[in-house]
Amino acid sequence: MFESKNTQRTPISDLGEFGLINHLTTATKIKHDKTALGIGDDAALIDMGDHYQAISTDMLVEGVHFDLSYMPLKHLGYKSVVVNLSDIYAMNGVAEHITVSLAVSNRFPVEALEDIYEGIHLACERYNVDLVGGDTTSSRSGLVLSITAVGRVEKDKAAKRAGAGDNDLIVVSGDLGGAYMGLQILEREKQVYLDNPEMQPELSGHEYILERQLKPEARKDIVELLQALEVVPTSMIDISDGLSSELLHVADASKVQVNVYENKIPIDPSIYTICEEFNLNTTTVALNGGEDYELLFTIPIADHDKIKANPNLTVIGYVKEGTGANLITRDEKVIALKAQGFNHME
Ligand code: ADP
Ligand code: MG
Repeated sequence: MFESKNTQRTPISDLGEFGLINHLTTATKIKHDKTALGIGDDAALIDMGDHYQAISTDMLVEGVHFDLSYMPLKHLGYKSVVVNLSDIYAMNGVAEHITVSLAVSNRFPVEALEDIYEGIHLACERYNVDLVGGDTTSSRSGLVLSITAVGRVEKDKAAKRAGAGDNDLIVVSGDLGGAYMGLQILEREKQVYLDNPEMQPELSGHEYILERQLKPEARKDIVELLQALEVVPTSMIDISDGLSSELLHVADASKVQVNVYENKIPIDPSIYTICEEFNLNTTTVALNGGEDYELLFTIPIADHDKIKANPNLTVIGYVKEGTGANLITRDEKVIALKAQGFNHME
């Protein structure tokens, strides 16, 4: 019936996720002066006069972003809110409102949806946001959750992906790689269970990384900390797809080169043992494992003293003129980073 006038059939994988977004939105036109920042950052910014309103949306699809065989529904509700709020904090803003849209198949009883909402409400309490609307519809296959978050950003504090300057320091909150290793444990235990349903999953001892995967937190506290320390990042992004991918976004948007030291990347001690078990390199996991939801930002070198004593923040490198992202390895080799983040389109 509705045939596309395009007769070519280019596979989406030819473009990748970011290439596809670019391709589809090159014809997008901004008509309103109030649209201060459109596509291409963690959130859009709308000029409200004395402040910006930040808007961001994210979709979670069963079988792509979550697996209900190990993701409890309450956690799913919680996590789907948190990942959206993270994009508002990545603008150095305060999240205030969300809408929640659900596509659900009749395989889910009402009680299952109640569990999801218990998690959603818990996140709304913890992060002080109001759920103000959404949409509910049926799905032929699986569960889809789409959340939009709206927040407030002070005009002189807005932190975009663009803005990193020569000599700025690169800072990351928390530690990296945990969410990915949590996923590896869950996938392994799922396989063990599928091979022998009598086996109980071996999850004890892995609490930290399992929590990083199943019940992540967004770094509202870091936005508050930066405010208290009187530090305004020159650029900021949240780490959803992996450090490499986000460093490249900052480098591209800011038209600079970013350089990070392998030995400075913060990694929780428990990750080393578990990486050994899986025969994975911790640096690779920290660079390319997704879903840590930490904040990556740049600050003027003059602000170093304000942040250097803080255990939540680690300086991992520096910005200089140029392009791309480099890793300076433990033996001082310089390796160009490529984005190998979670590419759900592949
Ligand atoms: P994030 O990882 O921070 O959620 P994404 O990588 O999903 O950001 O998206 C990058 C940018 O592209 C964002 O500004 C987002 O709003 C925009 N974007 C993503 N998909 C679409 C789409 N289908 N149409 C228009 N804009 C999109
Ligand atoms: Mg983001």
